[in-house]
Amino acid sequence: MPSNKKLLVLPGDGIGPEIMGQVRRIVDWMDKRRHVSFDISEGLVGGASIDARGTPLTDETIADALAADAVLFGSVGGPQWDTLPFDMRPERGILGLRKELQLFANLRPAKVFDALVDASTLKPEIVRGLDIMILRELTGGIYFGEPRGIETLPDGTRRGINTQVYTTPEIERIARVAFELAGKRQRRVCSVEKANVMESGQMWREDVQRIHDTEFPDIELSHMYADNCAMQLVRAPQQFDVIVSDNLFGDILSDCAAMLTGSLGMLPSASLGAVDPDTGRRHALYEPIHGSAPDIAGQGKANPLAQVMSYAMLLRYSFDMGEDADLIEQAVENVLSAGVRTADIISAGIKPVSTEQMGDALLAELDKLAA
Ligand code: NAD
Repeated sequence: MPSNKKLLVLPGDGIGPEIMGQVRRIVDWMDKRRHVSFDISEGLVGGASIDARGTPLTDETIADALAADAVLFGSVGGPQWDTLPFDMRPERGILGLRKELQLFANLRPAKVFDALVDASTLKPEIVRGLDIMILRELTGGIYFGEPRGIETLPDGTRRGINTQVYTTPEIERIARVAFELAGKRQRRVCSVEKANVMESGQMWREDVQRIHDTEFPDIELSHMYADNCAMQLVRAPQQFDVIVSDNLFGDILSDCAAMLTGSLGMLPSASLGAVDPDTGRRHALYEPIHGSAPDIAGQGKANPLAQVMSYAMLLRYSFDMGEDADLIEQAVENVLSAGVRTADIISAGIKPVSTEQMGDALLAELDKLAA
């Protein structure tokens, strides 16, 4: 039966199609067993689109993404396209989509599965059970602020300039996403800036506090300076639930949090746009944080779990299907606990499984959980 939920799948390059293949099996399982059905279309992006259409992002793919309720993205890039000019490279595919869909909120969960606790460089007692969410503002701040550039002063000295700029509406909308996210988790938000040395940080703090007090008084809010937050993330990361920060600090803190888990093939992400006041819809794109891994592409070695958990995030955040998302995440947890591992997360004495075998194990586990 056709569904009114539109999903655009963009596998991309390298390992993208292989890991997306396993997600498609789970999508089918969900359709049959949980009656979670979508109108699914698949499109080209990145190098695959360059080869077929001569550009990394066609108007058709943009239109399909704008019409979709959610986009499930694989990864783009590869050495065969590395000599192209920057605006023709596969990576323009993802950057262009983020821009066209105006995805201002980047969600990066960092969750440590018990079975992989030793993959972290931190002590097991520090990271065991860790489950935090870094929310980064993605379209404003110092990466986009004007003036910017490098100028030469009359005495010949060069001066490099970037500008940190935020408006109150930009801060308010990311703050709302943070509080809404926390409402679905442990109900705690830590807002991070440098209000002690930056006026934009001082305003950030005031605006986040006001949105809290007027709209989300039942969520716990704390404020922290970014340097302290970096330190706390490696000292006692369990103290956090949702961390919200600007583009620059969020960039750094989300990479730091990702490495607490120690495994690139396990990390999903989501990027959300503004809610359309007329339709209530919001653009959203879900993708693993890893790239196209050209070194292992086509060998059946890729870990599909980050892509699978990106799909779980899609169910949770675009369609409010928390129970279905929980089911997938539980299947991942159980499969890992049973010792099923792809080569990137292998531990001593275990034989690695292929991408497809990981998919088999997940489906078998889903069958068990749903029995
Ligand atoms: P990468 O994330 O693709 O790979 C880094 C290392 O991690 C490689 O050794 C790779 O084999 C391994 N790895 C990554 N994902 C894995 C998985 N799911 N299972 C098992 N091993 C995995 O980063 P890179 O090598 O720096 O970049 C490769 C290409 O990907 C480049 O063209 C880069 O521009 C592109 N890239 C794309 C995105 C994106 O599409 N959003 C993000 C990052 C990099």
